[in-house]
Amino acid sequence: MPEIKLREMYKDCVNGLKNIFPKLKDKFSGFSSPKFAKKIVNKKRFLFSVSAVTIVIIFSIYIYFSGIAYAVKVNGVEIGKVRDKKIIGTAQKKLEEFYQQAAQTNIMLTAEVTADKSRASRKEVINETQLLEAFKKQINFTVETHSIYADGGVIAVLKTKEDADNVLEAVKQYFLKGTDATKMKEITFAEAVEVKQEYNDINKIMILDEVIDFVIKGTTEERTHKVQSGDSFWSISKKYNMSMDDLTRANPTVNPSKLKIDLVLNLVIPKPLISVKTVETLTYTAQIPYEQKVEFSDSLYKDQTNVKVKGEYGEKEVVADVTKINGIEESRAVLSEKEIKAPKPQILVKGTKAVPPKKGTGTFAYPTRGRLSSKFGQRWGRSHTGIDLAAPIGTAVNAADGGVITWVGTKGAYGKLIIVDHGGGFTSYYGHLSKYNVKVGDKVHKGQKIGAVGNTGRSTGPHLHFEIRKNGVPQNPLNYLK
Ligand SMILES: [Zn+2]
Repeated sequence: MPEIKLREMYKDCVNGLKNIFPKLKDKFSGFSSPKFAKKIVNKKRFLFSVSAVTIVIIFSIYIYFSGIAYAVKVNGVEIGKVRDKKIIGTAQKKLEEFYQQAAQTNIMLTAEVTADKSRASRKEVINETQLLEAFKKQINFTVETHSIYADGGVIAVLKTKEDADNVLEAVKQYFLKGTDATKMKEITFAEAVEVKQEYNDINKIMILDEVIDFVIKGTTEERTHKVQSGDSFWSISKKYNMSMDDLTRANPTVNPSKLKIDLVLNLVIPKPLISVKTVETLTYTAQIPYEQKVEFSDSLYKDQTNVKVKGEYGEKEVVADVTKINGIEESRAVLSEKEIKAPKPQILVKGTKAVPPKKGTGTFAYPTRGRLSSKFGQRWGRSHTGIDLAAPIGTAVNAADGGVITWVGTKGAYGKLIIVDHGGGFTSYYGHLSKYNVKVGDKVHKGQKIGAVGNTGRSTGPHLHFEIRKNGVPQNPLNYLK
């Protein structure tokens, strides 16, 4: 049996060893003694004590390394833990100084930094330098600015108050250009303008020169101007405070030297964000209108009038406060008026005589006072379709009978021509005129002035060419005139 063999071998070995090392005898003899059992119990106690101490030590080490710490949060998000709460403040201060140096102006940090009591091991905590770097990544800043407000709205953001004041002064100077500021009673802004100190993103700060330009030009709007008598490109551009170039650019098809009345011009007028309002006291002479007196006369028809005495304007010296916005007059308050010259009333005579019917009467009267210079019919081998009455240019031409005007205008050899339709197939022609007093569609009575003798068309001297036609066929006027 191998077990028996082993036990025997063990015994042999122990005995052998006993013989070789007599000192070991004591030790080995105790293996099976009660003394040996007692020793084992002591060893268990010892091991237990060692474990407890170890746990206490490890716990102490943990307590030592994971002491009180503060979790630093930027806008509620934790960025690290610090042991000393004070370094949060100093890191923030250093960050402020760093930004201040970079921005070259006062700054304000834009994030909220909080610290919550926590625990952390020595490895977990960060120092002030690390905290500052973390802050740089997480915390932004705004800079101190001086913003210009107009009527409550911000129009420009500048770095310094001096810059803002310079903008306002430049705007003022721009709109006062060409005026005598010393004569101004008042120079203010039309809007409620104020400069406010506030904190803004650094990118919002505008460049001084650009701000001035922007405030002066502002946005543009579409406007038009209807050309009136006496207008020129120069006077229109001056009126709207715009350059001739701008006016030309807005109206590329208009020839400035050929302005026509009622032509509508496009105006692109600068619309400043801030306007300068001035009040100046002006002394000037103004017209005093004349009144009109009316007299009546039975020598004129009811629809006729005649100026007997021409009215004359008077003159007065006016002192007024003129308010202008960017050089354009806004209002005028008269302070005093002094008459220099009294106006002269006009006397107008109105007719009372009944107006003859404005239709054909069947008979014809001579249309003008003049010498019969050419008769109806054959003349130098050509047929003359009317009669010629020689008279000086400007002599009144009257309707030979009542009727309706059907033609006013130039027509070939007739030159300036008027045709009157008298009804019943009769029409009359008045050629070579210098002037018209009627227009197409007017109803005229017999003897009413319709134009003036002239020398227009194919004519060899001032005269009226007069025709009477029946159903379009020229008749000999002499057969009808009475
Ligand atoms: Zn003729």
